[in-house]
Amino acid sequence: MDTTVTLTGTGTPLPVPGRAGPGTLLRCGEWAAQVDAGRGTVLRLAELGLRCPQIGLLALTHYHSDHLVDMADLVLTRWVQGEFDPLPVLAPEGPTARFARRVLDNWEDDIAVRSHHGGRPTPPALDVRTFTPTETPTTVWRSGTVDVSAVAVRHEPVEDAVAYRFDTSDGAVVVSGDTRVCAEIEQLARGVDVLVHEACRTEVLRARGKDFIADYHADTVELGVMAERAGVATLVLTHLEPGPTTGDEANTFAEEVRRGGFSGQLVVGEDHTTVPVSSEPVSSTAAVD
Ligand SMILES: [Zn+2]
Ligand SMILES: [Zn+2]
Repeated sequence: MDTTVTLTGTGTPLPVPGRAGPGTLLRCGEWAAQVDAGRGTVLRLAELGLRCPQIGLLALTHYHSDHLVDMADLVLTRWVQGEFDPLPVLAPEGPTARFARRVLDNWEDDIAVRSHHGGRPTPPALDVRTFTPTETPTTVWRSGTVDVSAVAVRHEPVEDAVAYRFDTSDGAVVVSGDTRVCAEIEQLARGVDVLVHEACRTEVLRARGKDFIADYHADTVELGVMAERAGVATLVLTHLEPGPTTGDEANTFAEEVRRGGFSGQLVVGEDHTTVPVSSEPVSSTAAVD
């Protein structure tokens, strides 16, 4: 199987040129899963040569707008592109699942007119599968291709935020969603081939008086400590905060993670950064330390 991880967006709520909203694409042979759908996700997928109907699973980490704002676009475009089967959506029970169930509500007039005009047999549909987040990893999805497990993460005051792990025949991938560095992710990511983790330069944010942001995101140095302890092979940084606009700014993220002691392969993510899930070398144009 040919399994890869691609960042469809490495940004945050604050727009940074060249960085779409948060999203990670897992491709496993012909099958693909998208984790979160931030600003510009559908466009990034198109740039990767993917049509929305190729997405076989959408996994949502939490209900912050930066992670969900392109979900309606993904679902509607998938339908416009000719896929009428319901899209499987994984979501923690609570506000995230509620958002998913309502995501098409504002589009009923558009759906009605397109259904009639384009002769579409059925409206777009979702198959929302919910689960209760737990402090230890729990399997939440199984297909012939991958097993997906989830764990509750620490993004308080946001409740019910989760990270996902994908176990494939080529190896294992964890996507953190938004979280402080926490034992739950360490457990989920123990020995994984690829850990896609949000990264925050908390010192910078605190110096700017943004403690409320630093408090619920992953400090870069602490992340380096945790990823080393977990034995992660490749660590991919995403959801970069503050969003770097120069190579030097991006390198600072890597320096701080190294200061924490991480000795594996390290990638400071850019949109479209692609990492193979195997022992092969990283094939991307992103900064590699
Ligand atoms: Zn976020
Ligand atoms: Zn968040």
